[in-house]
Amino acid sequence: MTATPYDAVVVGAGYTGLAAAFTLAKAGKTVCVVEADETPGGLAGTFRFSDGVVIEKFYHHWFNNDVFVPELVREIGHEEDIITLPSRNGMYFNGRIWNLSTPLDLIRFTPLSLFERIRLGSLVFRVRSVKDWKQIEHLSVREWLEPMVGEKVYRVVWEPLISAKFSQYADDVSAAWFWKKLALRGSTRNSKGAEELAYFRGGFGRLADLIVAEVEKMGGTFLFNQPVTGVKAEQGKVTAVKLGDREVAGRQFVFTPAFPLIANIFDGVAAADWLERLRRVHYLANMCLVLRLDRSLSDTYWLNVNDPGFPFVGVIEHTNFDSPENYAGSKIAYLSRYLPVEDPVWSYTDDDYADFALVHLKRMFPEFDRSWILDYRVWRTQYGQPVTERDYSRYVPKSETPFDNALIATMAQVYPEDRGTNYAIREGRKVARQVLDRLAAGSAD
Ligand SMILES: Cc1cc2nc3c(=O)[nH]c(=O)nc-3n(C[C@H](O)[C@H](O)[C@H](O)COP(=O)(O)OP(=O)(O)OC[C@H]3O[C@@H](n4cnc5c(N)ncnc54)[C@H](O)[C@@H]3O)c2cc1C
Repeated sequence: MTATPYDAVVVGAGYTGLAAAFTLAKAGKTVCVVEADETPGGLAGTFRFSDGVVIEKFYHHWFNNDVFVPELVREIGHEEDIITLPSRNGMYFNGRIWNLSTPLDLIRFTPLSLFERIRLGSLVFRVRSVKDWKQIEHLSVREWLEPMVGEKVYRVVWEPLISAKFSQYADDVSAAWFWKKLALRGSTRNSKGAEELAYFRGGFGRLADLIVAEVEKMGGTFLFNQPVTGVKAEQGKVTAVKLGDREVAGRQFVFTPAFPLIANIFDGVAAADWLERLRRVHYLANMCLVLRLDRSLSDTYWLNVNDPGFPFVGVIEHTNFDSPENYAGSKIAYLSRYLPVEDPVWSYTDDDYADFALVHLKRMFPEFDRSWILDYRVWRTQYGQPVTERDYSRYVPKSETPFDNALIATMAQVYPEDRGTNYAIREGRKVARQVLDRLAAGSAD
């Protein structure tokens, strides 16, 4: 006997899936969220150290100009749990840390000549002058930026970050993606030009748990530890998702994992050219070493690593942002590395990766000693950063699929903005509205 189909089945309980499920449940629809992991939150999920201290697997904050997160947080009645904090930003270059939190810090950045610093500072006006990102989408970041700021500024400030983040794809990343990042960051500053960031009391995992609880209160169902292995389809419609030998039937379906994972789910059921389009989008993996320390590395929260030869994009000392009191007095620092999965480092064991990383950390902070480490964890994701190459909008798959009642909402469709939980919520809401329209039109009946 087949169980009554849910109005909607959502695959993935990251922020996109959670926002979609919340919107659907709130509209009175029956919804089932199927998640491979044991907890919600996806890339923004948290883990627990042995003494119960909880922290994100991968460092997370919001920008104070993000609008979709606070809107959802308000709706679930937890606005008072959003905390806004000043951020201390820096750059590691030429063997030392340079503060880069305010415009004054930029003036003091002597590795660039005064003229170069002025050129760098004036970038903000050049960014504002771009009214339509599609006009620069065919250019790479370098092709767009270098003529404006000059070869040296690009080489010192931007190239190391783009290379550390995008590896072999660095020269293909679309200028539109970078332009949007600069444009958005320009408006996260307070009246003194310093940046303020936001965080949720208890972390992004706590917020994910609260959203799950709200959806359940409205009658929604969550199935954790249940990877979707395939779909059942008939006459151009998906009828159920397969969880091994079990099935969950629905009238509408939303898929939120990375494109290649969605392609695997539809393998053998959907047309080969559509699967190829899903697999056309490249991703970089990310490895994060999360260090729990008995003292601070520095007083900087976000340290971009611009010094060639250091295999990290950044050192993020979370407890220079949120108070160490929330982590039993300990200090927490992330060492983040983006890499292709072909890189031998990707297959290092946790201990080998820590050994590899700590040698470089010691070069950066000579006083650092392994005895400072109370505990550590290594987290990996194969799909950490989609690569938005030149003319990305022309080849990125849309939310429609070859099936009338199945839609995709995945972080690689966030563009030209960079992926982030704020936009995951925006896209989750958007796809839920599409599902509601389809349910109203009875398209899957
Ligand atoms: C290193 C790093 C740092 C980041 N920092 C920030 C930050 O500071 N601020 C910020 O806002 N964002 C940040 N992000 C981005 C943010 O985490 C993502 O944009 C956001 O979490 C994406 O949410 P999502 O739901 O679209 O995808 P995901 O979080 O990837 O969720 C997809 C879900 O689908 C599940 N899934 C996969 N396959 C299956 C299957 N077969 N069956 C069932 N379930 C499946 C996964 O387990 C996962 O839970 C960061 C990301 C990384 C990697």
